[in-house]
Amino acid sequence: MADAELDEQLSTRDDIPSERLASIKVRGLAVDELIFTQGFVDYCNIDRCGGGCCHSGVYADLGEQAVILEHANEIALAMDDTQDTNPETWFDGEIIDDADFPSGQAIGTQVHERDGGISGFTEGCVFLDKRHFCSIQVAAAKAGLHRWAWKPKYCILFPVTVVEGTITYDDSHSADLHYCGPKGTSNYVHSVYEAMREELQDFLGMEEFGKLNDYYLSNRERFEKSRLTPGLIQVTL
Ligand code: SF4
Repeated sequence: MADAELDEQLSTRDDIPSERLASIKVRGLAVDELIFTQGFVDYCNIDRCGGGCCHSGVYADLGEQAVILEHANEIALAMDDTQDTNPETWFDGEIIDDADFPSGQAIGTQVHERDGGISGFTEGCVFLDKRHFCSIQVAAAKAGLHRWAWKPKYCILFPVTVVEGTITYDDSHSADLHYCGPKGTSNYVHSVYEAMREELQDFLGMEEFGKLNDYYLSNRERFEKSRLTPGLIQVTL
């Protein structure tokens, strides 16, 4: 991953005001109500965004890295002529300790200079192809598996993330994204939560997601009022 970008992403739980924390926990994690009030686009539409969220790569849990390397042949075959097909150079080699990953350790994907197209970025994750698709996802789908079977969890979840045990909105990584980030508020049609329900179901499991959804429905009127009031809770730049 790009160093400057990583520093920006490593925000801390101290950044989340206590009054924004929901009165429930799901899967042992606190919940920042910003996910219910922050606006977002209809869905992650690569044709509109160009995969800008992949421009700085991602941290993958060491277990996720092992799964990716286990399927290196299939993933390399899904890559195009602009990508590095050598698995030995897919990760940056710097292991970090982070309790927000299942194993407690993670490693960054390598980032390369590339034409970011409409995203406007000049670099991208080693797994990002020239169509701005993720080769890990393409390979899993080609193998007849669920499209997220081999994909790092924090890629699936974005713009939702987990910071020091709290599910929240990744405002720092979203800041430069012209389509879905706070620079693209005119594209917003609903909240981050509403856009990311399937991803949260995958992450939390249906039972814990059900608790989150019950909380959302119980407070929906308050959240919608906040979402539609610019500057009240939404991240603005
Ligand atoms: S692994 Fe795939 S989804 Fe994640 S940042 Fe890289 S290209 Fe994007």
